[in-house]
Amino acid sequence: MTGLIDPFGRQITYLRLSVTDRCNLRCTYCMAEEMEFLPKSSVLSLEEMQRIATAFVGLGVSKIRLTGGEPLVRKGIAELASSISGLDGLNELTMTTNAVLLNKFAKPLAEAGVKRLNISIDSLKPERFKSMTRVGKLSDVLTGIEAAQAEDFQAIKLNAVILAGQNDDEVMNLAQFAVERGLDISYIEEMPLGHISSHKREDTQHTSVDIRETLKQGFDITPSTETTGGPSRYYRVSGSESKIGFISPMSDNFCTSCNRVRLTTEGRLLLCLGNEHSVDLRTPLRDGISDLELKTIIEKAIGIKPERHYFDPEDTQILRFMSATGG
Ligand code: SAM
Ligand code: SF4
Repeated sequence: MTGLIDPFGRQITYLRLSVTDRCNLRCTYCMAEEMEFLPKSSVLSLEEMQRIATAFVGLGVSKIRLTGGEPLVRKGIAELASSISGLDGLNELTMTTNAVLLNKFAKPLAEAGVKRLNISIDSLKPERFKSMTRVGKLSDVLTGIEAAQAEDFQAIKLNAVILAGQNDDEVMNLAQFAVERGLDISYIEEMPLGHISSHKREDTQHTSVDIRETLKQGFDITPSTETTGGPSRYYRVSGSESKIGFISPMSDNFCTSCNRVRLTTEGRLLLCLGNEHSVDLRTPLRDGISDLELKTIIEKAIGIKPERHYFDPEDTQILRFMSATGG
């Protein structure tokens, strides 16, 4: 094997690039009510992000996801997408978005070479959507999804975080919504990332097994061997093109097949979502290192990638929020 190989023999082929820690929503499980965002000077410039992305692709990374925070609030996002999608060796540029601004950005993103979109939507009830996001309007997201479907993306997948007692009664409706539109959907278990005040995470845990049991009441679902190279375990829905995925960081550890690293908005290379192991790329970059030196730092950083995460919903040991991490 060539490229980036970690101490456990896993090949790193996937970079998640957080382009901003800011967001136009305030999902209760993702952010605290009062968030302090990074000063501009701490945030990587688009040129710095482009340089780091280029180094990763030069080291064998074939997939990059733009995320955040909300990537569509970052000024110049379509230009960044366009410059990254053209990198020789990159197979796929994707984005995760809350879709609030997608009506405006679907076309520019498709034209910029973004191939796949993941769209987060946790409720189809306007009032509940607003309370779960603190400020969001469901109609904006629905319009955004329609705008994305009008473009030529290879795939659009919905993501829903299911919280017991909050939106677990919408598991079936969300799947129906996806299936009716020919979209895929993944259900995500809530992770204890960052201290929040809206609820106790141990009270809202809802496992993928629970979700599958609910879905079996309305759908004929069968496990599929398909993978998109991520932690989602997929099921096929009989009579439909849609796939249903389950991302189970709490109930089913998937670290043995981990192929990814994350770059935070501040240029910290994060080797694992559930551990603090990281390496600062911003300082050497601003000190004027060469492209070769940048690649060497990245190669060395992969050497400290931990074997696995250990999450405990009753004990939030990771103080950074998902929005600051690059979800
Ligand atoms: N703003 C974009 C969005 O919401 O799609 C991209 C960034 S967001 C941090 C990426 C994904 O992380 C979303 O699907 C969100 O629901 C999920 N997420 C955020 N906090 C989480 C948590 N504590 N546990 C599990 N998933 C979380
Ligand atoms: Fe924003 Fe995405 Fe976090 Fe919601 S999950 S607050 S949309 S970054």
